[in-house]
Amino acid sequence: MAAIVLDGITKQFPDGTTAVRSLDLSIADGELMVLVGPSGCGKTTALRLVAGLEEVTEGTIFIGDRPVNDVEPRDRDIAMVFQSYALYPHLTVRQNMAFSLKYRGGNSKDEIGRRVAEAARILELEPLLERKPRQLSGGQRQRVAMGRAIVRQPQAFLMDEPLSNLDAKLRVQMRAEIARLQRSLGVTTIYVTHDQTEAMTLGSRVAVIRHGELQQVAPPQELYLRPANLFVASFIGSPAMNLIEASVERGDGGPQVCFGPHRLAIGEKPVREHPALERYLGQKVVLGIRPEHLEDASLAHDAAPGSVIGVTVELREELGSEVDLHCAVGVAPLHPAGLGGGEMDADRDVGGLGAVSARVLAGTEGAGALAGTEGAGGTEGAATSVPAQVADPAQVADLTGAAPLAAPAGPVASALAATIVARMDPRTTLQVGEQARVQVDLAALHFFDPETGTSLRG
Ligand code: ATP
Repeated sequence: MAAIVLDGITKQFPDGTTAVRSLDLSIADGELMVLVGPSGCGKTTALRLVAGLEEVTEGTIFIGDRPVNDVEPRDRDIAMVFQSYALYPHLTVRQNMAFSLKYRGGNSKDEIGRRVAEAARILELEPLLERKPRQLSGGQRQRVAMGRAIVRQPQAFLMDEPLSNLDAKLRVQMRAEIARLQRSLGVTTIYVTHDQTEAMTLGSRVAVIRHGELQQVAPPQELYLRPANLFVASFIGSPAMNLIEASVERGDGGPQVCFGPHRLAIGEKPVREHPALERYLGQKVVLGIRPEHLEDASLAHDAAPGSVIGVTVELREELGSEVDLHCAVGVAPLHPAGLGGGEMDADRDVGGLGAVSARVLAGTEGAGALAGTEGAGGTEGAATSVPAQVADPAQVADLTGAAPLAAPAGPVASALAATIVARMDPRTTLQVGEQARVQVDLAALHFFDPETGTSLRG
């Protein structure tokens, strides 16, 4: 077992593509580090660099204390598990597991037999040892691939989307097995996935990568609670965080965050938690609200004044344990520069800024209806609203001081109305077309700089 250190690693391919840029990452001895990011972000390349299957352009990789840039892959003492299990079809499970030990030499027949038996026991493959891969299910093949890695007793496991070929249920099961196995074997592991749920459930720490650059590395809960920037905020969490262009104002009752017709009385706590927010008073910010921090106000116990917004329900998704409502909020959707690209659309089932644009509602209907709701007097306990001239999203932008900027310098408010997703108590009776009062958990708001995307948390 050994720690792995990537010290300033850059990989540029001969055609000029820079797949990994100045990557610094330390994986502790015995740790399971997950590399996660959208397709093409460079995570597989990073793994292949550690394996020695690609040559480093700049920087040094250490396995243990040893720089390995010039060490052949077979001498790096690591075992890889791929998406395609790459089993030999003509060999049995037993022979597949024993193959690399035999091929490398240096182990007696007895020792090989002992290690294969031990791996088969751990992975519950004993009854299948004489079968050929074609006689196995996908999950069983995956376990054989794991077994082949385990028998090597390597210093580290490198796993590249090992569960992608499995169906959803089996994936969840195998994910738990890998986590358990990794913990009990204590082998340093780097695990690559594009699936944020897999990353969050597996990793002791998760490194979020975008365009070859490390965005944040932290334990899963830290990424969720304190994302360093807009990219991490929108990539981690499902459904994705709602991102809204807003402004921060100092109202009579303390600081307020304003967007479209809405004013949330955020109080002093968010300002204390986001020290940089003080500097943004009177200016634009990106407000982040996770769907789970929005609730049907009629079900909330203590809807504090200034914590409720009026929205129009556009879509109701009943998921059993929760109901997701897509709601028009009367503001233009947000496309922070460089974040709305295809990589987000392609890689998130739900959410992300790509999904924000996917959720836009054509025309101004939603915004107009909305302005009518709260703008025409509001409701008791509701956040105060800017009156009704917000029907036109262009005017919304003016009211929030958020006039559209020329791309690609900053956020671009389009002429379409955005929806936010609220993950609600399944008892909610709110239906499509209804004007709803939604309570916002003011203690769980996120704020970002609209130009750089950096969190305003200190
Ligand atoms: P995926 O999840 O789709 O596998 P990834 O995050 O693992 O994506 P990589 O396979 O590491 O991404 O690729 C990173 C970037 O490097 C991509 O733009 C890819 O096209 C490019 N790339 C990968 N291999 C090569 C190569 N041999 N030559 C040139 N460019 C390459």
